[in-house]
Parts: sequence; C-alpha cells; structure tokens
Amino acid sequence: MKDLIIIGSGPAGLTAAIYAKRAELDCIVIEKEAVSGGQIINTTEIDNYPGLYHMGGFDLGMKFREHADALGAEFVEGNVVEFSRTDEKVTVKLENGDVYEAKTAIIAGGAKHRNLGVEGEERLRGAGVSYCATCDGAFFRKKVTVVNGGGDVAVEDALFLSRLCQKVYLIHRRDEFRAAKTLVSAARATENIEFVLDSVITEIKGDNKVSGISVKNVKTGETCEIAADGVFIAVGMLPESDIYKNAVDTDEKGYIIADETGKTSAPNVFVAGDIRTKALRQVVTAASDGANAVTSVENYLHSL
Ligand code: NAP
Repeated sequence: MKDLIIIGSGPAGLTAAIYAKRAELDCIVIEKEAVSGGQIINTTEIDNYPGLYHMGGFDLGMKFREHADALGAEFVEGNVVEFSRTDEKVTVKLENGDVYEAKTAIIAGGAKHRNLGVEGEERLRGAGVSYCATCDGAFFRKKVTVVNGGGDVAVEDALFLSRLCQKVYLIHRRDEFRAAKTLVSAARATENIEFVLDSVITEIKGDNKVSGISVKNVKTGETCEIAADGVFIAVGMLPESDIYKNAVDTDEKGYIIADETGKTSAPNVFVAGDIRTKALRQVVTAASDGANAVTSVENYLHSL
C-alpha cells in the first residue's frame, strides 16, 4: 500500500507531488487529462505568480510538471469514479476499473466551468458557445464575440479575444468587477472591447451556429439583441467534489471544508487547491495548499 495518492495535477496536485517526493513518500499522482497543469493550461498569461512575470499558463503548467518529473513523481492517467475511506486506508477506483489504495489521499481535483443555464447554451455548445477563449479563440479571427462574466477569466478572455477579433462585447451582471483592477483597466483601454454592464444574457441565438444573444439590463429591464459569431462563457467554477461527499464534509456550495493545513473531516484525507474552502483561488494559493497538505500527511503518518 502506498503512503499517499494525490488526485489532480493542477498547481495544487503538482506542488503536492514535489513536496511528497522531497519527503520521500511513496506516492502516486492520478491525473484526468493527458496534459498536466489543470485550469492554467487554458490561461493565456499568468501575471501574478511571483518571479515568473508574463509566463504563459501552459508553460507554467509544464514547468510544474517537469519539476515533479525531475524528482521522480509517478503519474497515472485516469478518471476517478469512486472514492472511499476507512481509518486504515483510502481506496480510489478509476473509470477503467483500476483500483489504488494508500494510507492517505490529497484531493486536488479542482473545479469545472459553471454553465450559464440559458436557452441556446447547450444546443450551440461547440457551435459558437465556448468556455475557453485560449482553446477556441482562433476560430473567431476577425469576427464578433461576446464574453460573459466579471472575474479574472472573463476579462483575460476579452483581452485575449480583442487581439484576434474585430470586436468583443464584455457582458457583466454588475458594474463592478471581481477581476484584478489592472486587467479591467487594460480592457477599458482596448478600443475594440465594449463593456455591457448591469446586464445578463437571456438567450443565445442561432440555428446551427451562434448568430447573437439577447441581453437584459437588470437595472432598467430593457432588452436588446447583439449580433455575434461566438459566445465565451466565463461565469466562474464549481468544485468537482461529488464523488468525495461520502468521505469528507463539504460546504453548501460543494467545496471540501478544510483549514490552512488541508485537513478535512476525515483524518487520512487532505485537500488542496480550488476544490477546498478558501478565501482566494489563485495559482500561488493552490501551490501553497499542496505544500501544506503534504506536511499534514507527513504529520499524520508519523502519528500512526
Ligand atoms: P470568478 O472570479 O468566480 O468570477 C465569476 C464571474 O461570473 C463573476 O463576475 C460573477 O458575477 C459572474 N457570474 C457568476 N454566475 C453568473 C451567472 N449565472 N450569470 C452571470 N454572471 C455570473 O470566476 P473566474 O473568473 O472563473 O475565476 C475563478 C478563480 O480563478 C478566481 O478565484 C480567479 O481569481 C482565479 N483566477 C486566477 C488567475 C491567476 O491566478 N492569475 C487567473 C484566472 C483566474 P459577480 O461578480 O456579480 O458575482
């Protein structure tokens, strides 16, 4: 039986792998995607990771992975479909039927895109509706696109698309942004980004592909239509925690409850990154969660 199973290979999981190897733990990292890095691989630029100003998200993910590889971390690709625990061990089952057991686990499975939930979103997904500007932006060269959201991702996406598209509408339900002020200032200074504030998308229109959106101003109640070729939805993330709810406590939004040490309600299960309760979800805080969680694993193993 291994000492530790790390689930997830974003910044939290990869940092945990680095710390676990340095602690000489017998551990394995289970990653869902063929490429490590988690959400950051779809981020154009990470400008707030210390020491790596203007680093591409994909490149930063690769650097984390190379670091873990250099220390000899062992990776398995697979989708975790079942997770259970007793006080003696944790058991993880993958979609392909493989089962892994360890004395402890660090859950670092991250979060997934939140849907907008409006008419047309599901039907036109992949036909103009996208959740990843860096993945799909190139399809909209010289075209008109809409970005919905007011967080870092939405504003970064609008800036990224403004370099490719003829015009970008940034739709946000309030007139204040969660996104970093520098990003919002950069977007305001970009000629082909038009802000549509206090507004929500009520419908995404189009027969076989997106042709536009209906928008409602939440303050005045006025509605209008905007013609567009693409709609990028960036309205936040939801924790991928469903399969862990039988083993650890979660809050009302589904985040796994943990303190700074990464300890959960179960003594041999720890958590790191965007899937846990925390004040600030950033690459740097995910990495620090990974380090803290491994320290907690070590303390737990020493106590056995
Ligand atoms: P976010 O910060 O949670 O922002 C989500 C945005 O979507 C908010 O502006 C929210 O509006 C809006 N929204 C939510 N539900 C909506 C709905 N149903 N209809 C319309 N609008 C809706 O999410 P995010 O931008 O995806 O970022 C996720 C996390 O990753 C954040 O913590 C972010 O800081 C972090 N991140 C970090 C970096 C980095 O470290 N460089 C880069 C990118 C992202 P309200 O503001 O009104 O709630």
